[in-house]
Amino acid sequence: MHAAAICGTDIHIFHWNKYAQDRIKPPMIFGHEFAGEVIEVGSQVEGLEVGDHIAGETHIPCEQCLLCRTGKQHICRDMLILGVHTPGVFSEYAAIPAVLAWKIPKEMPWDVGAVLEPVGVACHAVFMAGTAAQNVLVTGSGPIGMAAVGIAQALGARRVICTDVSDQRLELARKDWGADVTLNPTKVDVVAEVRKLTDGLGADVVIEASGSPAGIKQAFEAMRRGGKIVLFGLPSQEVCLDLTEQIIYKEAVVYGSTGRGMWDTWYNVMALIEAGKIDAAKMVTDRFPMSQFEEAFKVAAAGNGGKVVLYPGQ
Ligand SMILES: [Zn+2]
Ligand SMILES: [Zn+2]
Repeated sequence: MHAAAICGTDIHIFHWNKYAQDRIKPPMIFGHEFAGEVIEVGSQVEGLEVGDHIAGETHIPCEQCLLCRTGKQHICRDMLILGVHTPGVFSEYAAIPAVLAWKIPKEMPWDVGAVLEPVGVACHAVFMAGTAAQNVLVTGSGPIGMAAVGIAQALGARRVICTDVSDQRLELARKDWGADVTLNPTKVDVVAEVRKLTDGLGADVVIEASGSPAGIKQAFEAMRRGGKIVLFGLPSQEVCLDLTEQIIYKEAVVYGSTGRGMWDTWYNVMALIEAGKIDAAKMVTDRFPMSQFEEAFKVAAAGNGGKVVLYPGQ
């Protein structure tokens, strides 16, 4: 393992909250966003060689169930998650199922390899709705929300508006990912501002990345009639919503999105990077040797930047 990025899931585990206690049986190595080098392959593994550089999936599919057999491995009925159910990547070496490996070019920096997985989360979500010629609202500009802004632009959005409670993150979304308009919901009325920018209609496409109940409510209210909304931020509680006004009367199309398609999303991410449409390196804003993991987690949990990358073995 040459680089491993800290995910929201890892922050839950680090803080040992209910989410973590319900799922993790210690001792367990956590971490799942990675890039590394193959140093050994199992006797029945095909298509991978010692020396290959890889990033990879974190959803371990059973490859047998209806979902796996119909192109939906990432929502496999019996799915396991790397670094949650099986030992993860915050270590110098890891044994991963070959089915998770995605070869990366040798010239790709390790930290960029480590964030292909979260870039993929954004890509999977944005591709669901499509953004060509659309007024797009991204609610929540954490690392994945920021990438969603960039991908929405890459797919030809008319205008991308994004929100976050951190002005620093809004600045990153504008400067590094091309957001046209940034709104801080603690300072402005997001719904009113979005309507003002869209002829009173609301956004055509909404990408909900915040997972906060207030953010989700704003996301629906700021969506126009006949609009589409993609939800992938995970609320930690049930969310109250006026279905009559916000979905039924609007004839809204609501998508749930999780993880990445295997492997269509990865091909899409690589295509966007290789064509220069997005710069995945911009997702990484902080880097720490593994020996300073506590500081790294503090920075990640503060929620003012992009991805924090750890270097195992350093
Ligand atoms: Zn993750
Ligand atoms: Zn399955």
